[in-house]
Amino acid sequence: MKKITRRYFNRRLSEGLLGTAVLAHAPLACAMGGKEGQGRSLGIALVGLGSYSTYQLAPALQNTKHCHLAGIVTGSRAKEQVWASKYNIETKNIYNYQNFDTIANNEDIDIVYVVLPNSMHAEFSIRAAKAGKHVICEKPMGISVAECDAIIEACKIAGVKLGMGYRLHSEPYTQEIKRYVKEKTFGEVSYIMAEAAYRSNGNPAQWRLNKALSGGGALVNMGVYSIQSSIYGTGENPVSVTAQEFSTRPDYFKETDETITAQFEFPGGATGSIFTSHNANANSLYASCNKGWFSLKPANNYGPLAGETSRGPIQFPHESQQKLQMDDFASHILYGTENRAPGEMGKRDMIIVEAIYQSIAEGNRKIALDLGKMGLVSESN
Ligand code: NDP
Repeated sequence: MKKITRRYFNRRLSEGLLGTAVLAHAPLACAMGGKEGQGRSLGIALVGLGSYSTYQLAPALQNTKHCHLAGIVTGSRAKEQVWASKYNIETKNIYNYQNFDTIANNEDIDIVYVVLPNSMHAEFSIRAAKAGKHVICEKPMGISVAECDAIIEACKIAGVKLGMGYRLHSEPYTQEIKRYVKEKTFGEVSYIMAEAAYRSNGNPAQWRLNKALSGGGALVNMGVYSIQSSIYGTGENPVSVTAQEFSTRPDYFKETDETITAQFEFPGGATGSIFTSHNANANSLYASCNKGWFSLKPANNYGPLAGETSRGPIQFPHESQQKLQMDDFASHILYGTENRAPGEMGKRDMIIVEAIYQSIAEGNRKIALDLGKMGLVSESN
């Protein structure tokens, strides 16, 4: 009998070609959704053990229900030892960037989570897909739209699921904003303002200030949050963007953008304004509607977020956003629930990023966008 590999299974699953004989195959039954996946926890391998993996993702994975930390991929021998003993990771589940592709043979790993500098997202997401693993890719998805296309294509060919590390889509305040927009709780949105910025004073040699590794500055790092806020805060993709860049510390920000503002037009008539910077602290979302307003401040940090509307404050209990996000993605694989942040959403945001840079390069010219409903998982975001 032909051995059914996970890669084969994933591809057939995505093509809808699985027969009942295959569905009875116990170890892989998790991926088909429904009750066969009940109680299963998917193994995640984190790729790149920097600050986000160390202080957010790994701790969150100690409390997840549908997934767990099963492996690591690192260029550091010292981190291999520290992580192996701290998280009880088996030696056979530890990889480096050179032998990473052999993860294809490791049944303990279902999902590869790429948490590397931005310019490495595409390479490792594609290698993960080719290894037959589901992929979570951190933001920004890549450093160009072409890279986003390549990741999406690789996942499609391999028949694996692709999700973005957009933690806010699993977070209750953000979901409440989406509900207001969908149900028109405060009427039609006419203006959205979104800020996402922090002041950077760190090591001038860090990769975020190196264009080859980061692909850009504040815009690709924090700006992605303000782009996202304006989209789920209106429920629409913008049809035009006009942008401006400001530089006050060129000695520090030698290669990457320091501060960017941009204005959006939305198809329903709303206008939007975003601010992003590596030279100021700002973190909010505000929407003016024809029957009131809603706001979040902070809107995009690790939480707890805080919200207020024209009808009063809103409050939700705090849970790790990363825990909710990874459980949502695992649940999508196991039970076919909504993929709250699919790859198309990451690509859409990169199209907007490129249009913003284009507007700046062309003297703040208004750039038309034709995104339709691209990347909107539902009417509400
Ligand atoms: P760090 O600089 O803290 O870590 C990056 C890690 O990548 C390093 O520790 C290293 O891990 C590995 N690496 C491999 N090659 C290189 C290289 N040439 N230069 C530097 N590091 C390298 O970054 P963060 O953890 O803050 O960010 C990683 C990714 O996560 C980024 O894409 C960022 O945008 C995203 N992020 C997302 C957040 C969110 O809220 N969704 C929040 C923070 C970051 P090792 O030593 O194991 O090889």
